[in-house]
Amino acid sequence: MTKIFTACLGTETNTFSPFVTSYRDFEETYYTRHGQHGDDPFIFAVPLLTWRRMAEAKGWEVVESVCAFAMPSGVTLRKDYLRLRGEILEDLEAAMPVDAVLLSLHGAMVIEGWDLPAAEQEGVDCADGEGDLISAIRAVVGPDVPIGVELDLHCHITQRMLTDADVLITFKEYPHTDFAERAEEVFTIIADQLAGKITPLMSVHDCRMIGVFHTTREPMRTFVDEMQELEGSHGVLSVSFGHGFPWGDVADMGAKLLVITDDRPNEGARLAAELQHRLETIAAEAQPPYQTIDEALDRALELADGPGSGPVVLADVSDNAGGGAANDSTFVLRRVLERGIGDIAFANFWDLVVVQLAINAGKGARFALRLGGKMGPQSGDPLDVTATVGGLALDAVQTVGKPPKTAKSRLGDAVALDLGNGVEVQVNSQRTQSFNPDALTQVGIDALKKRLIVVKSMQHFHAGYGPIAKAVLYIASPGALIPHFDQLPYRFADRSLWGIDRK
Ligand SMILES: [Zn+2]
Repeated sequence: MTKIFTACLGTETNTFSPFVTSYRDFEETYYTRHGQHGDDPFIFAVPLLTWRRMAEAKGWEVVESVCAFAMPSGVTLRKDYLRLRGEILEDLEAAMPVDAVLLSLHGAMVIEGWDLPAAEQEGVDCADGEGDLISAIRAVVGPDVPIGVELDLHCHITQRMLTDADVLITFKEYPHTDFAERAEEVFTIIADQLAGKITPLMSVHDCRMIGVFHTTREPMRTFVDEMQELEGSHGVLSVSFGHGFPWGDVADMGAKLLVITDDRPNEGARLAAELQHRLETIAAEAQPPYQTIDEALDRALELADGPGSGPVVLADVSDNAGGGAANDSTFVLRRVLERGIGDIAFANFWDLVVVQLAINAGKGARFALRLGGKMGPQSGDPLDVTATVGGLALDAVQTVGKPPKTAKSRLGDAVALDLGNGVEVQVNSQRTQSFNPDALTQVGIDALKKRLIVVKSMQHFHAGYGPIAKAVLYIASPGALIPHFDQLPYRFADRSLWGIDRK
């Protein structure tokens, strides 16, 4: 009987983030082993559940190992990476022999020690966490067992990954609404390889650029649709555009085009180069229209008074936990209070102390508290406010993705704070970006009736908030993810990439 081995290990390392990623952080965000998650569709389990369903439909045996994801932050502690890698290798060795390995990885994990010379990294490729893991798995299974990998599109595609995996496929959509479809694609290609129907070969083109590419609007919408139309004919099995992760300061940082063909490397390389030419013509137009805090608030107030229904949604992109920020920055809220702007909700502030105080005090209690600004200069100064405690939700979750393929993500305990003048702030005990207005509604903030909503997210909020928004604006506020890359103090990434020092 065909036997496949599956595992998930992911985090996105912001090397400029002020805090580290530990084993406990994986446990807090998502950690299961040996399929203990059951059929509960937490977002990080979706690829493994997809592979189990598809494998069982073929009558195959599935051995599921670790499924772990840590909310992005700074470098992953070396001892904790080695512990997680060790668990996966232990399960793999116990499962051998296997016919194929399927992995759900992020692709931008950086291990503590990445800034040391290679000789001092003691056998771990610290700048390429996922490549290191794939190599270790390859060493166990040998050269002939196919390894298929699903990656986040914010990955650093490295030579090590290309050498040691057979198939790498990245998400196509940003926000990432296609994690289940890409898992299906990885499975289908590996299954066809196992059946001897195809010989997948990867061709990569280094785009020599870095940027932020929302696929919710043009010109990227058409680019992604055209990428997808290329698949399935002329021997093209899969086309991926790895955007890269600009806040991960490693030598491999940057966008790459990756074409998988059925044994047609020259055609794959030609197609990847053609796509690169097209990308060069649209990259500048594709970049998000960032505004300063005051520009965005002025524009939002204008739009709120104009035609249409629903709130104007403002994304505080620099304080996005999904990219390693603290989610407790006060820059935008401070300006809103200073300007006396009312009828506005803030989603997904992270402040453990405030959540604890609010839960202890209970609904309706009113008292002075110090909100946000706790994690360092990138969070701004804390705000001293007087708040009334609104709704409370213990062990809350928010929805991720777009119907019908949605999943859940943890908020921890969540509370609503009313600061007066219609300014309401939703605070949660687990650090997470904003995905869906149900984070607000379940603590009693009526998202649909607010004039303005500020979310802490780069783009994933769009799947949940886009459908209710009258308009969406992007604020380039200070913080851990400032979107002006020429201002980042890169030491290892190539500053001559388009998007950093070259525009
Ligand atoms: Zn991503």
